[in-house]
Amino acid sequence: MADVTGTRAVVMGGSIAGLFAARVLADAYDEVLVVDRDELVGTGPHARRSCPQTRHINGLLARGQQVMEELYPGITEEIFADGVPTGDLAGDVRWYFQGRRIKPQHAGLVCVAASRPMLEHHIRERTAALPRVTFVAGQDILGLATTADRRRVTGVRVQPVGGGAERTIDADLVVDATGRGSRTPLWLEELGYGRVREERKKIGLTYVTQHYRLTEDPYGTDLSINPAAWAGLPRGAIFTKTDGGRVELTTYGLLGDAPPTDQQGLYDWVATLPCPDIHDALQHAEPVDEPVAFRFPTTLRRHYEELERVPDGLVVTGDAVCCFNPIYAQGMTAAALGALTLRDHLHTGAHPQPGQYFRDLAAEVIDPPWEMTNTVDLSFPGVEGERTLQVRIGQAFLSLVQQAATIDGAVTAGYMRAAGLVDRPEALMRPAFVARVLWNVLVRARFVPPVPRAVPAADRRPAPEPVPVP
Ligand SMILES: Cc1cc2nc3c(=O)[nH]c(=O)nc-3n(C[C@H](O)[C@H](O)[C@H](O)COP(=O)(O)OP(=O)(O)OC[C@H]3O[C@@H](n4cnc5c(N)ncnc54)[C@H](O)[C@@H]3O)c2cc1C
Repeated sequence: MADVTGTRAVVMGGSIAGLFAARVLADAYDEVLVVDRDELVGTGPHARRSCPQTRHINGLLARGQQVMEELYPGITEEIFADGVPTGDLAGDVRWYFQGRRIKPQHAGLVCVAASRPMLEHHIRERTAALPRVTFVAGQDILGLATTADRRRVTGVRVQPVGGGAERTIDADLVVDATGRGSRTPLWLEELGYGRVREERKKIGLTYVTQHYRLTEDPYGTDLSINPAAWAGLPRGAIFTKTDGGRVELTTYGLLGDAPPTDQQGLYDWVATLPCPDIHDALQHAEPVDEPVAFRFPTTLRRHYEELERVPDGLVVTGDAVCCFNPIYAQGMTAAALGALTLRDHLHTGAHPQPGQYFRDLAAEVIDPPWEMTNTVDLSFPGVEGERTLQVRIGQAFLSLVQQAATIDGAVTAGYMRAAGLVDRPEALMRPAFVARVLWNVLVRARFVPPVPRAVPAADRRPAPEPVPVP
């Protein structure tokens, strides 16, 4: 859209998706207001009560880093200058899949090992510095204002947190970035647009996170130790160096296998992971806070692209559209990519067409990671869902990729590029890559020793049987 003076966009929600949206809107609208119930600007990096995931690891995928840098040139270096460690996501991270370590391989995939509050702080401050962007803090968003015929959204109804006079902020475009609890589905139904279809998958996920200071550094040059959950053991962890000279440990269990929040219980639970690295590192680590839990019973996708009619002047982005299984770390990257889709729709010289925006968002941003992780989620026997032939082939192939990656760094790099959303998932199916995977698994594996497989020490307890999702 051309630079039109006198136009205003209002972004509901000033978290990651709202910030990225505001950034692209500022190139097209004369004024961009970001409305949130929280005080945001100038408050420094801090975990927010209205955004409880800010207390847990929020890893930024490689594609997310690339888009963030495109939208805010120089921001990556600014973050590193603020004490955030970095490395290569494929080369400096100890990844374990199916309990086996894959071969590290530098692949040009930049890891920004920022805590979520630190990452959000930098994106927010850069957004707030844009002359056309204004934050409107301390406001509860109550609903939408529309034209009398309800065909166009014309603003947002707000009220100060804690009570006070309700008012309407007029807007030429409203962007809903209020996250999972978004009330747009309800509002659209009330306005006569029907109910948006919601798709959920029960995963029964629990995160428990704690921060430490290392008294000795057993990592060497590595940045992070990440044993991923798999069908054989639906629990995993991410133990990463982060800002403030701290180490952040997020442990997680699927299908009701919740890590404990008492200190000794958590240590014992970590000892059941298939690699001893984290348990060993904890021998040299002092806790700086208490373990905190977060329950995530289901994924959630809202299929706005299927609605026959949507009002003009309203689009939705970020978790308000799709909440991925957090263990794949896709949410913030999807929010960044969603902002690029919005940007594409702002270049036409008119206000965005919401229907086309939702279809493009679904096809370009959400479908690829949603389908990829759906395939992985269904590899856990307790997760309900149809295991089509395509899903089973995908699962079998992914298992081969992970096996091949234990002996071939090029496979690691290809796998990490796809998992990091730098390449589309189809890249793993390119004939040359498939041939390389098969050659490694069927031939080379007989002669090349894998990266040493970590064996749980004798004194470590076996993992308990998973319990069904309630
Ligand atoms: C446990 C957990 C771990 C995760 N880990 C990762 C990860 O490793 N990597 C990754 O990329 N993603 C991760 N995610 C997802 C990631 O946190 C989100 O994708 C990201 O925060 C973008 O969300 P959002 O901006 O759409 O919504 P949110 O972050 O939920 O923000 C919504 C905003 O809207 C405001 N708001 C909501 N309702 C109102 C209202 N009525 N009035 C006023 N303000 C309102 C809130 O205050 C908040 O600021 C994780 C999520 C969870 C739950």
